[in-house]
Amino acid sequence: MATDWCPFARKRAIVNTNFTAGRGGQKMIAVVLHIAAGNLEGVYQWFNNPASKVSAHFCVGKDGTIDQYVSVNDTAYANGLAWQNGEWQNALGKKVTPTWQDIIPQINPNRYTVSIEHEGFPQDAWTPAMHAANNRLLVWLAEQFELALVPQHSLIGHGEINPLDKANCPGPHVEYARSAVEVATLRTAKQFTWMPINTAAALYRFAQERDLGYPQTDEFETTFEGETYLAQVFNLGIVYVKKGDWENAQWVKKPEA
Ligand SMILES: [Zn+2]
Repeated sequence: MATDWCPFARKRAIVNTNFTAGRGGQKMIAVVLHIAAGNLEGVYQWFNNPASKVSAHFCVGKDGTIDQYVSVNDTAYANGLAWQNGEWQNALGKKVTPTWQDIIPQINPNRYTVSIEHEGFPQDAWTPAMHAANNRLLVWLAEQFELALVPQHSLIGHGEINPLDKANCPGPHVEYARSAVEVATLRTAKQFTWMPINTAAALYRFAQERDLGYPQTDEFETTFEGETYLAQVFNLGIVYVKKGDWENAQWVKKPEA
């Protein structure tokens, strides 16, 4: 079971008449991206208005803020279609022909999707902060649901579900392929231990002043004639300093491999 509320999102629970508890037994299979056509505050007000009868799970702001309105284990009302008389229909009863190949016949897509709104309008390019926050959220969702995000399958736009009314949602600038490969890379990178970089440390500052590159090891201790030294390997040299004598760091060229 996925964690209901994303730990790094701002929880803004909405009125319980604008979503359905649970997923009716369906497994989550795709993340659907939207454009809000408004700002973050307006999105919350609208989803929290009992008259709207709409909701999404999340909205990502232009400044990277992530708001969450509905538990990911509940059914938000952002991607809905009704199955009537052997065809998909919108709320007005008009026939809709989804381009999304993985839609499950007869079952409302809201049941097996997570929806993410984005602050702004379809013609807006995403800000770098929005792109980064969206990636972070996608990584979390992929982990929660053990889902590989693949464009046109498990990472789609609203327009792929409803090309009749929502062709311009989320809009032409959304980079599905870039996001998908970045999310896959980020997930793999998380499996490794990352080199800690303490930018305030004496050895690091010394190495940067001499253009020795970035750390290739953590700091380590070494002893010589009863004195303890602190040392660290950088791209172009090994920096060392006698403990306590921090102003007098030295460096030695790395040996040829
Ligand atoms: Zn939409």
